Amino acid sequence: MLNLQLFYFLFLFSLLTFCTANFSVPHVSVNTERLIEDLKILGQFSDGDYPGITRLLYSKEDKAARRYLVALFEKSGLSVSWDPVGNIFARWEGSDPRAPAVASGSHFDTLLNAGLYDGTLGVLGALEAVRSLKEVGFEPKRSIDIIAFTSEEVSRFGIGCLGSRYLVGSLSIEELVKLKDSDGVDFESARKSCGYTERLEDSKISEDFYSAFVELHIEQYHILEDEGIPIGLVTDIAAPALYTIEWKGPGGHAGSVPSNERQDPFLAASEFALSLEQLVLRDPKNSRATIGRVEVYPGSAGAIPRSARLSLDIRDINEESRTRVKDLSLEKAAAIARKRKVTMETSHNYSYPPARMDQRIIQVMEDSCRAYNFRYLKLVSRPFHDSLFMATKFPTGMIFIPCNGGKSHVPDEYASPDDISHGVEVLAETLARLSYQ
Ligand SMILES: [Zn+2]
Repeated sequence: MLNLQLFYFLFLFSLLTFCTANFSVPHVSVNTERLIEDLKILGQFSDGDYPGITRLLYSKEDKAARRYLVALFEKSGLSVSWDPVGNIFARWEGSDPRAPAVASGSHFDTLLNAGLYDGTLGVLGALEAVRSLKEVGFEPKRSIDIIAFTSEEVSRFGIGCLGSRYLVGSLSIEELVKLKDSDGVDFESARKSCGYTERLEDSKISEDFYSAFVELHIEQYHILEDEGIPIGLVTDIAAPALYTIEWKGPGGHAGSVPSNERQDPFLAASEFALSLEQLVLRDPKNSRATIGRVEVYPGSAGAIPRSARLSLDIRDINEESRTRVKDLSLEKAAAIARKRKVTMETSHNYSYPPARMDQRIIQVMEDSCRAYNFRYLKLVSRPFHDSLFMATKFPTGMIFIPCNGGKSHVPDEYASPDDISHGVEVLAETLARLSYQ
């Protein structure tokens, strides 16, 4: 009797080991033409001159794009739902619908006059992955969700990753309702005008809602293109910290006050900008520091400025080195203020923690590349994505494909059909494997 039990145990154990070691998903045949056609149709929902695409959050173009996406999801037999800010979820129910689902997706809004592939590839690429898995008869165990995130770009309300931040609970209702666009339209009015009239409540999504999240995206730089490698697997996502620095002086007449008597805050800001460049050039591989906005007051050609205010954006995958660059920058800014006899004030707008991608998911993505014999490169993402925030709650991974010249956020952003196809194949394999883990 004991021997029989032992036999059954050994039999089950070896069967389990065999199944795990040999888990295989049928290779999908991605319909790249269909996917590119979908991308082009989505690109027509644009408030701008072709080929540039402008689709701002809750605009009439955004509303039309949402209708188009929902129709595509439903046509593929997915059940569609949304949350109060308009994150759209399309579910392919698995054989174990109560198990935490696997999710994949990205954003579909754009900056002004931008390109066809940023974000949209991750939404429609996930749909193509699901369609092609269905076409080879694959059946998921965990459900697979496609998420079309509301507004990843900062274009309308000046806040990035609005939808994913709301979803994971890192953006409160109080913060949301304070938002206004440049025309003074508040977030609530804009949201409701787009048809999202449900009461705004904090997202209640729990950490075990998703077992994994994977985002497919164009690289937005040219490392993959330079190396001739079709797939990038992201290990870390750099995150930004934003500060505002303002120098003030007494001003004066542009004609009467000689240079050696001036306390010019704009010259302080200028000296700071050039010293910041030298500071980050010492270690160009790591932190990025950018002054993207400069405001000079009163802005008259005939007056010495009384104030110069600038934004300081610092990004890194390492929070400590980002803080070090910030400390050195602000020390330098203060030293310049003393030297030029102007006052200085700083404020901290926000800091987000950098994200580390999940090792288990990276392993599955590597196995998926091997299943298709694709070369891949592990790399860091300097731009941030919805994955930065999804990673705060769920195990997360990102798949990059090359884009022409590394260009993005421009009308001639381009990814080749072959690269798109390879990215979707790796995504499909990854989602299929994760649905059985
Ligand atoms: Zn993007």
